Amino acid sequence: MAAAKTRPDDAVKQLHYLAASLKAPRILESASRLADQARDAGWTFEDYLAAVLEREVSARNASGAQLRIRAAGFPAAKTLEDFDFDAQPAVRQQIAALASGAFLTEARNVVLLGPPGTGKTHLATALGVIAARQAHRVLFATATDWVTRLTDAHRAGRLPHELAKLRRYRLIIVDEVGYLPFEQDAANLFFQLVSSRYEHASLILTSNLPFSGWGGVFGDQAVAAAMIDRIVHHADVLTLKGASYRLRGRGIDSLPSIRTTSAEPQT
Ligand code: ADP
Ligand code: MG
Repeated sequence: MAAAKTRPDDAVKQLHYLAASLKAPRILESASRLADQARDAGWTFEDYLAAVLEREVSARNASGAQLRIRAAGFPAAKTLEDFDFDAQPAVRQQIAALASGAFLTEARNVVLLGPPGTGKTHLATALGVIAARQAHRVLFATATDWVTRLTDAHRAGRLPHELAKLRRYRLIIVDEVGYLPFEQDAANLFFQLVSSRYEHASLILTSNLPFSGWGGVFGDQAVAAAMIDRIVHHADVLTLKGASYRLRGRGIDSLPSIRTTSAEPQT
């Protein structure tokens, strides 16, 4: 009977060869470690195989997520776990719903509005990290950076190509809409970005201005209205409130208020 079996060192050699061919070197390590566990616990062959493959798949997913997080260009590593919802209780429910990631497959947008330091970039990044963990491609940049990128593409005569490329990203994050006003051409390019993603793929936008102040940013009320219409048609709009988290406990109660054309208070 022993003669019919592969000798253990032959089997191990063969495992080395097979794991290398599958480009799954981690299988080698988990195969021997889990074999001991399987013998001790009396696992079935199926349990054992599933456990070995499961380790490989989760390791691959984790390194894929790491790659996508790095490629996204987030300004800092932020997650929902390190967000203090006691500082923003009004959005707790909405963020909990968004954390499922369902908005991405539905091509819905998220708009985060609020004064500086209230966590807009933090939450946008955290939702981006969730998207990356769910195997979606993500890109993060400020509104100004997006406009530069689109302007370069436009000048090189490859704007349609660039927009098509960007549509392959399930999520694009546009941070800081409103910090700098756009030139007319830039506003039109930005409008094309929004239109090209409408009902195809998600956008997360952050702004320190209420929508009523966006006309000033885009230099044109009609362009701003048409854009807001497309953004908000399928969107969750979250309004963050209160004092800057950066200034907490520093004896500074508030920052100079931001002048907008809006009647909405910026507190
Ligand atoms: P905004 O983009 O609204 O100006 P940020 O998201 O950049 O603000 O937040 C400023 C800093 O404060 C960041 O370091 C962020 O991680 C932190 N922060 C803001 N709000 C919270 C919060 N509720 N819980 C934990 N950290 C927060
Ligand atoms: Mg910010």
